[in-house]
Amino acid sequence: MFDVREAERQAALDGYAIVDTAPEEAFDDIVRLAATLCDMPAAAISLIDRDRLWFKARIGIDQPQLDRARSLCGHAIDAPHDTLVVQDLEEHPVYAQRRRVLGLRPRFYAGVPLLSPEGHALGVLSVADVVPRMLGNPQLEGLRLLARQVQHLLELRRLMLEQGHARADLQRRHDDLQYTAHHDQLTGLLNRAGLERLRARSDVQRELDAQPYVLLVLDIDHFKRINDRHGHLFGDRVLCAVADAVSRSVRASDVAARFGGEEFLVVLPDTRLDGGAEIGERIRREVERLALPVPVTVSVGIADSASNQGGPEHVFERADQALYRAKKAGRNRVVADDTPR
Ligand code: GH3
Ligand code: MG
Ligand code: MG
Repeated sequence: MFDVREAERQAALDGYAIVDTAPEEAFDDIVRLAATLCDMPAAAISLIDRDRLWFKARIGIDQPQLDRARSLCGHAIDAPHDTLVVQDLEEHPVYAQRRRVLGLRPRFYAGVPLLSPEGHALGVLSVADVVPRMLGNPQLEGLRLLARQVQHLLELRRLMLEQGHARADLQRRHDDLQYTAHHDQLTGLLNRAGLERLRARSDVQRELDAQPYVLLVLDIDHFKRINDRHGHLFGDRVLCAVADAVSRSVRASDVAARFGGEEFLVVLPDTRLDGGAEIGERIRREVERLALPVPVTVSVGIADSASNQGGPEHVFERADQALYRAKKAGRNRVVADDTPR
């Protein structure tokens, strides 16, 4: 039969993610304190995990885990608010039988259930001896206080886990927001803000200063006409197809961005003007070959940083002028900057 209470108890224990973790000094110390306080050879912090008993800390016990059904701790949680004390297991009506059948060694057992704040019994702080014993009230009280300390340790652990999760969530949300802010929703390329942020990075600036690079400015030809004749949605499809053609034609280390409505910008690091012209031509051909219901072409202007006066703005200016000339010369072509250097 499915036991709802037990399922909730197990879920509460799972919330601490503590079962099968390495020993920890704080728990070990409490077990040692319990053994010393009660003058017992054995003491343990056990957690009841499904049908087994797993020890977070133990002294005087050989096994790292036991069968729940065979263990006294497993029964101690049946009355979660009481301390189970069995002065002599040999004399006990229930445990005597069990002891003989299972060959259990302890004669004396005392266990204080460890509760979650919601009242679920997660495990037991226990002490045991191989001879019949008694425990005085001060010792029993001390054992309960130590059990409370274990509960505090468990709570701290859960809080830290939750905080870790909350921080990870926040970081994920932050990353998502950053991504959205810096990428074009339609094409998935970097947008202007993304490009700006990249350019502001000092490592990128160093790279741009150290190596020649080429800048490509691309503009779809007669895009307004495409929109007017086939609708804005079709225009969006064309934009995506062109963006894909651009991405396909460049290296992973190159940077492609949607710069404006139907304009794209590509940065080719470590490239000269003639190499850049080849990439521009490759993109132009890729777009021309796109399997779209209407012919789509792009014009491309390129410039390099070799005569680097005025920085990236200046290179962009010259690439843009080259693009203008490509348009004037009849579109669907790549034109390189020809300012004397
Ligand atoms: P040219 O060959 O000289 O570049 O001509 P053109 O028609 O492409 O140039 P123009 O700059 O006049 O037109 C650009 C058009 O791009 C105008 C604008 O409505 C359209 N556009 C801008 N952003 C988007 C968009 O996100 N989606 C769609 N479908 N159209 C856009
Ligand atoms: Mg334009
Ligand atoms: Mg255009």
